[in-house]
Amino acid sequence: MVTPELAPFAYVGGLGDVVGALPKALALRGHDVRILMPLYGSIKPQPDWQSVEAPFVIHLGDGRRAYAKLWSTYLSGTQVQVYLIEHRQYFERHEIYSGPWGSHGDNNERFTVLSRAAIDLCPFIRWQPDIVHCHDWTTGLVPVYLNTTERGAPLGKVASVMTIHNLEHQGVFGREILSFTGIPESEFRSDSLESCGAVNMLKGGLYHATKITTVSPTYATEIRGPMGGCGLNEVLAFRGADLVGILNGIDTSVWDPKQDPYLPATYDEANFNEKGKCKRALQEQFDLEVDPNVMVVGVVSRLYHQKGIDLLTEILPGLMSEMKLQVVILGVGEKWLEDALRYWASQYPGRIGVEIGYNARLSHLIMAGADTFCMPSRFEPCGLTQLYAMRYGTLPVARATGGLCDTVEQYDEATQQGTGFLFSEPSGSGLYYTIGWACATYYDKPEVFRRLQVQAMRKDFSWAVSASKYEEVYKWAIDARSTSV
Ligand code: ADP
Repeated sequence: MVTPELAPFAYVGGLGDVVGALPKALALRGHDVRILMPLYGSIKPQPDWQSVEAPFVIHLGDGRRAYAKLWSTYLSGTQVQVYLIEHRQYFERHEIYSGPWGSHGDNNERFTVLSRAAIDLCPFIRWQPDIVHCHDWTTGLVPVYLNTTERGAPLGKVASVMTIHNLEHQGVFGREILSFTGIPESEFRSDSLESCGAVNMLKGGLYHATKITTVSPTYATEIRGPMGGCGLNEVLAFRGADLVGILNGIDTSVWDPKQDPYLPATYDEANFNEKGKCKRALQEQFDLEVDPNVMVVGVVSRLYHQKGIDLLTEILPGLMSEMKLQVVILGVGEKWLEDALRYWASQYPGRIGVEIGYNARLSHLIMAGADTFCMPSRFEPCGLTQLYAMRYGTLPVARATGGLCDTVEQYDEATQQGTGFLFSEPSGSGLYYTIGWACATYYDKPEVFRRLQVQAMRKDFSWAVSASKYEEVYKWAIDARSTSV
């Protein structure tokens, strides 16, 4: 696996969670999985890590070389080896993609170096995989290298799988980066790296990968169309026969209400009332009125347009005046949204609690202490937080898009089946009335609400199922590669 993020080393979203968990599940099935990532400044090498004495040389275009140091360790409690590239110029800064002033200006070179390092790693450690599994645009050049500079070389036989975690980010840069990469200029064409006169690293990866996956079946369909395709729908339609959607799983050892060290009380279906202690702790933590009988709506999210938290901000005053509920929000992102949330928290003390920042403990407390979990995403490739919420018996109020469609089962009043409340239109009013529906169920039909909570907790979102699907894709890719080179 080649990745820009890996939990728990350095991660900012679902991609890091996935790469932290999928290799563990694959290793349990007997595979030798190794991960390559940068050693960001935020990661401190530990005394038990190994480092290779000889410099790790990364071969770039026009005879350029990057000299790095290679560290290695294991994903905790596993045989999954993690290689980390230490390079001061490219990776010493703490943030993965962007700093306070936006995206790092040299991301084109940084992630070329990561991608090329995947190629140069194999002879360096004298090991060659059957599959290289790449994640998002930052690793998009790996399949391009395998098909161009490595064609005819031993690595050229290796199959590649490209996973799209979020199509919105594509790595689009000026043409001049090509000479830095060492990839032939002839790849600057519309059925390879070129897009609208620029180099598009994700597009290159999508054209050259042996097989492509994305993180939910619905998103796999959405991205083939103009609405969800972010300009790459034609590429994805062209490669449609090689594209499958596989739902992300969750790390059930980290997200388990029965044994979660972050919680003041642990619980399962049998002693569900202990969830009430988590609600109390949550209300105290956020200075809300302590009241076991008020419905608490939780949010844990990046605060960006994709996540639709602005729709919630828009309706907060209406919710406060019309409904009996409390809202707790943990997130970080766009400044105007952070400011708006802080403002509404100041207007409704005791009813709206906001924490701006990234905080693992609070995210667990919200999952456990809230009654419903709000996720009004404009698009959502898979989404993990709704899975965590359901496992903690907290019902999602979510927009019916992407992975949310595939994981949250709409509450059916006739049969009392379901695990959450879905709405279609990406608007404040769509969200408003759906929170109202959840509220009405919570107050007027508490036994039904409880039944939905139990149904949500019983859903199996462990990695075992998804890992076996990835295994099938890997086999499929190996077969396809062996007949094409
Ligand atoms: P995305 O990858 O689009 O951000 P996901 O739902 O797939 O969305 O994954 C988000 C991950 O990041 C989850 O593990 C979630 O708990 C975590 N997360 C997001 N924001 C925060 C935050 N402010 N504090 C703690 N964890 C967060």
